[in-house]
Amino acid sequence: MNLEEIKSKLSREREELISLLEISHQERMESIKDYASTPDELADKYETKQEMHLEEEALNERIKKIEKALEKIKNGTYGLCEKCGKKIEDVRLKIDPAVEICRKCSI
Ligand SMILES: [Zn+2]
Repeated sequence: MNLEEIKSKLSREREELISLLEISHQERMESIKDYASTPDELADKYETKQEMHLEEEALNERIKKIEKALEKIKNGTYGLCEKCGKKIEDVRLKIDPAVEICRKCSI
């Protein structure tokens, strides 16, 4: 894989994640709008809201990671381990192009 390929792959994933995030956010807003009438319903809604929030957070984390990888491509440090500074194995980058550390450091 060359850098251009990785870049477009990451950008595509980022766009997908952003639209997922928007959908999730909208759904959460909708669920807040529905007024719950009983305490049970209220508790249910609260839980759903929390779950959705966690999902949004996971999406946000991933987006941040991807943006960081894109930034590294720009400044020429892509593919280097954040811990030891050595080159990250191609296999690892193929599995997750946004991976930040090498195999040794991940153990
Ligand atoms: Zn390392």
